[in-house]
Amino acid sequence: MSPIPASSPAGALLRQEILDLHAYHVPDSTGCIKLDAMENPYSVPPALRGEIAEAVASAAINRYPDPGAASLKEKIRGVTGLPQGMDVLLGNGSDELIQLLAMALNKPGATLLGVEPSFVMYKMIAAFTGMRYVGVPLEADFSLDMPATLAAIRRERPALVFLAYPNNPTGNLFPADAVTRIIEASPGLVVVDEAYYAFAGDSFVPRLAHYPNLLVMRTFSKLGMAGLRLGFLAGSTAWLEQLEKLRLPYNVGVLPQLVAEKLLAHHGVLLQQAQQIKLDRAKLQHRLNEIATVRVYPSEANFMLFRVADATAVFNGLKRRGVLVKNLDGGHPMLKDCLRVTVGTPDENERFMAALQEIIIQSA
Ligand SMILES: *Cc1c(COP(=O)(O)O)cnc(C)c1O
Repeated sequence: MSPIPASSPAGALLRQEILDLHAYHVPDSTGCIKLDAMENPYSVPPALRGEIAEAVASAAINRYPDPGAASLKEKIRGVTGLPQGMDVLLGNGSDELIQLLAMALNKPGATLLGVEPSFVMYKMIAAFTGMRYVGVPLEADFSLDMPATLAAIRRERPALVFLAYPNNPTGNLFPADAVTRIIEASPGLVVVDEAYYAFAGDSFVPRLAHYPNLLVMRTFSKLGMAGLRLGFLAGSTAWLEQLEKLRLPYNVGVLPQLVAEKLLAHHGVLLQQAQQIKLDRAKLQHRLNEIATVRVYPSEANFMLFRVADATAVFNGLKRRGVLVKNLDGGHPMLKDCLRVTVGTPDENERFMAALQEIIIQSA
């Protein structure tokens, strides 16, 4: 990317934070097995397709969507098991909700705090919105550095803390009592980002009523609806009523509302797919562990982080063999020579393993 000269109109007019950013890069995946973006590899069950097609055929796409999305919200409350008195706020993906939270809490001098490495959008959206960002490094094994995190919270008094539970790109689930201590120590809002809830053994949804400064964020992207763009915040109406003021009135379209509702009526099917992915995750973990030069990290998500001798060589070798994973090398110093692979179908996992073994044998 060539720098924009300050004398050009864009260079002169754009905020410096924007000029300094690198756009979120989505690589071309044509012809590849796509194991780079934590998508559910299974498509919609055939029986459901007809039902969706029928609903779409008669959808009122000439009208603006229901801004309150009452019927979809009711479904979400049901599948989420939302405690009494808690509500939901819908977003065009949870990325939009991160942005909405930053816009809402970005008083002059306010700080957004995250741990590192974690989901890159927290830091990027802090930059988009001009919010001050502080990242607390995790330990070398990607566990929370509690003394450093609690010290940073005391020192920085962040208005907004994001914790991905399980964490992306590391895959581990932080201990619940550590997250609880962070919530209790925080003077501001703590958002527990449960993008991978369907693959993990714990959730903060049942604890929502205990902590007035806690919101839980979820997305349906990793559960088979990445194409729909639908995420939500769950928490007390005291928070959500205020945040609702910033939501663009029609941020979730007629078709996503309708299709998500149909899919959530079969939430059990999606959870079954997640269950299958968890079984295949264990198998993949086991296979990766058998390779002496590969270090695999524990995962409670639908992906796995692993470290190799030369991540870029392995990434390119996989790509040449038609398998796309995520190369995390260069993203953060702690992720040197790390790759992230999404758990695919058994067949996709097999082809990934075969390609990886070929590359490792060749480079030995
Ligand atoms: C994928 C992901 C998201 C974004 O989800 P969308 O709803 O697709 O915008 C948010 N948080 C984490 C931790 C993720 O991994």
